[in-house]
Amino acid sequence: MKKVLVKETNKEFIVGKIACVGKNYLEHAKELGDAVPEKPVIFLKPSSSIIFSGEKIVYPEFSKSLHYETELVLLIGKTGKKISKSEALKYIEAYTVGLDMTLRDLQSEAKKLGHPWTISKCFDTSTVLGEFIPASKIQNSNSLDLRLWVNDELKQNDNTSNMIFSVEEIVEYLSYYFTLEEGDLVFTGTPKGVGEVKVGDRLRAEIPNVSKLETEVID
Ligand code: MG
Repeated sequence: MKKVLVKETNKEFIVGKIACVGKNYLEHAKELGDAVPEKPVIFLKPSSSIIFSGEKIVYPEFSKSLHYETELVLLIGKTGKKISKSEALKYIEAYTVGLDMTLRDLQSEAKKLGHPWTISKCFDTSTVLGEFIPASKIQNSNSLDLRLWVNDELKQNDNTSNMIFSVEEIVEYLSYYFTLEEGDLVFTGTPKGVGEVKVGDRLRAEIPNVSKLETEVID
C-alpha cells in the first residue's frame, strides 16, 4: 500500500490503481515506430511499483533496455464514473511529474506477440513520483512544460499542449470504461525523446514551478 501527500493541503491519499495512457504524443508514437492511436491506449500499473523522489530505481536483471518516460500525473480526488469532459477537472485533486519506467525490450517483444505489456511496466520501482501540487494552483494542465535530464543532459523537453488527448479527454475516456476512485493516479503519456538509462545514471524531471523529482538507477 502506498500513500501520497498533497503539498499545502496536507491531504493524504492511499493510491489505488495507476491508469496510464500510451502514445499520447504524436512525435513519441513516431519514434517508437507505432501508428498514431485514434483512441487512447490504456494500461495499468500496480501501486507496488511506486517510489518517490530521492529513492532509487532498481535495474531489473530480466531486462537489457530500461527506458525513462517523463509524464504529467493526475491524482484523482473523488470517485466517479462516466465523467464528462466538462466535469473532469472537478475530479482532479493534484498534479505531479512522474516517470513511467519501461523495459523496452520486453515491451517490444510483447507487442510483437500481441501479449500484454504488464511485466515491462509493472516491475518494482518502475513508477517514480514527485511532490503533488493542489490542482487549484495549476491554471491549465494542458499547457505545462515537461523536462527530463539524465546526468545533467536535457533529454526530454516538451509541453502538455502537444498531447493528442487532453487531461479532460483522458478522464472522460477512462471513467467510461471503469470507475475512477479517490487515490487513483493517471499517467498522461510521454513526449518524444525517450531513451535508455544505465546503472549509475542520475535522472531529474520537472514541470517548472509545479513539481520536480530526482532519482538514480542502481543494481
Ligand atoms: Mg508512459
